[in-house]
Amino acid sequence: MPENYQTIIGLEIHVELGTKSKMFCHCQNPTSADFTESRDNPNSFVCPICLGHPGTLPIANKEAISRTIKVGLALNSEIAEFTKFDRKHYFYPDLPKGYQISQYDMPLVVGGELEITRRDNTTFKVYLIRIHLEEDAGKLVHPEGSSSSLVDLNRAGVPLMEVVTEPDITSAEDARLFLQELRLLMKYLGVSDADMEKGQMRCDANINIEILNSKPVRTPITEIKNLNSFRMVERALSVEAERQYQEWEDGGAIRQRKNKITVGWNDAAGKIIPQRTKEEANDYRYFPEPDLPPIKIKFEILNSKFEINSKSEIRKNETMVEIQSPNGSIEILSRDLPELPAERRKRYSSLSLSSADVDILVTNREKGDYFDKIIHEGDRSELVKKVASTIINELSDNSINPDNLRKFAELLLSGDISSKIGKDLLAAMLQEDKSPEIIMEEKGWKQLNDKSEIESIIDKVIVDNTKIVADYQSGKMVAIGFLIGAVMKESGGQANPKVAKEMLEIKLEVKRQK
Ligand code: ZN
Ligand code: MN
Repeated sequence: MPENYQTIIGLEIHVELGTKSKMFCHCQNPTSADFTESRDNPNSFVCPICLGHPGTLPIANKEAISRTIKVGLALNSEIAEFTKFDRKHYFYPDLPKGYQISQYDMPLVVGGELEITRRDNTTFKVYLIRIHLEEDAGKLVHPEGSSSSLVDLNRAGVPLMEVVTEPDITSAEDARLFLQELRLLMKYLGVSDADMEKGQMRCDANINIEILNSKPVRTPITEIKNLNSFRMVERALSVEAERQYQEWEDGGAIRQRKNKITVGWNDAAGKIIPQRTKEEANDYRYFPEPDLPPIKIKFEILNSKFEINSKSEIRKNETMVEIQSPNGSIEILSRDLPELPAERRKRYSSLSLSSADVDILVTNREKGDYFDKIIHEGDRSELVKKVASTIINELSDNSINPDNLRKFAELLLSGDISSKIGKDLLAAMLQEDKSPEIIMEEKGWKQLNDKSEIESIIDKVIVDNTKIVADYQSGKMVAIGFLIGAVMKESGGQANPKVAKEMLEIKLEVKRQK
């Protein structure tokens, strides 16, 4: 952590929404999980609307609006009562219309916050400025060895949600943690896979630093465009913070410069690359999209037990959000929101699980859901821990029937089966959908509980391991583990380990006293 300066970071995140169809036309959305065609055929999922032909009329995608509102509700934002789309003009070969349909002064979602828990259980909060809805552009393809570039418009018109944060983030690592939590939230809400590697979530980062002199002073902002992985975000931001500080210390141009610069990031070189200077907002010549009617959003409180003082409170109550436009109306119930990552983290943390296990069960939602099917409220903590460690460390999928897995964990905990039988049993349970008791019966893995049989094995082990027995009896208590292991091995893993341990201890104690 640098002590000479404070890092100031704000993020702009674009998330492609995985709706069935595109934002303003009926074309299939190639980023949707339901997409069945090959994504490798360029310009195959296009129509006159997303190709930007003159005279075509866009129609707003209700599902995309509804998903954006869901995100706003989950982030405790205000949902606008009235919102509209605007045209943002710029020229680029992947944008045939010459403008992007976006939202300028009346975004769908305003404000909001996300609290993030770091690994060491400290937390920080990031406030949001806005979330608006727009459309993605196409893609330029540069074939190797060719002197010309090609345009693929499959992506043109894909619904794009843009989240803009306040400059609240104070380290490159926190920026990564925020993005990871935001991604998790998108997945929990089911609005997008938000896979950065696939370009479904893309990040532009604004960074400057405050030099902590007797009179603190701030450097001008650098906007780093198109950071396409969590690792890249963290690396680029820490490199740029340090670079700004060095330039300042060296008395460079950064001391005089006032304007923001826009740069790219060369990951291989680990360096920023200068780009065009940023257009002022009015260069885009925003104006209201004349082909799309504005949208009215109505809130209806369904549960009158609560009084709502501000719209940011609607999520906590039973509220219906109804969106009305000439295209039809959409209804969202705030109680339809699933349990969110932060809520789940809190719930698991109260279960005496390690923070590493909590993290895995929250980040891997499917595993968490599976865990919830096995564990019941009020379960004792050994069982909870055993179930968690089994599904985290022993199982690569969640295919075992939850009731059977619960029985399995109970058998292991009671000491009724050895860990060796446990391993075989788990493998067998993955093969066939049967209860652990039935599998043990069928495989002849009956636990050896007969004390006289165990005793004769113990006697043999004591004779075979005189040195270790002597170690134990001279006070090296850990040696008992080796002896229990030997008993288990001698019995083919079938001796009841609990019984074996008890008998072994008594025997060695008696021997010592003799
Ligand atoms: Zn289309
Ligand atoms: Mn944008």
